[in-house]
Amino acid sequence: MTDLRIFPSLPQGLAYAYTCHWCGEPLRFERGRGWVHIEGGTYQMRCDTCGWRGSPYPSPIVCPQCGGQVRDDHCVLPVCGGAADR
Ligand SMILES: [Zn+2]
Ligand SMILES: [Zn+2]
Repeated sequence: MTDLRIFPSLPQGLAYAYTCHWCGEPLRFERGRGWVHIEGGTYQMRCDTCGWRGSPYPSPIVCPQCGGQVRDDHCVLPVCGGAADR
């Protein structure tokens, strides 16, 4: 059973078998770092001020959107395609 998710916002034709259990984002595997969010971060950060969420690497210290304080939302937890369906 292969349940590949296709994300319209990503470059055409890309499908990801692994997604993050917490945020449902597609993941990619980086040599030496393991599974990371699509933006490259192990952690997803969030901003309580404006609601921004993202997982760039390295993790931002302040919110790229409003300059507010960001906090760790969760650490990546890879799940294989079908299992992530809710
Ligand atoms: Zn996540
Ligand atoms: Zn913000």
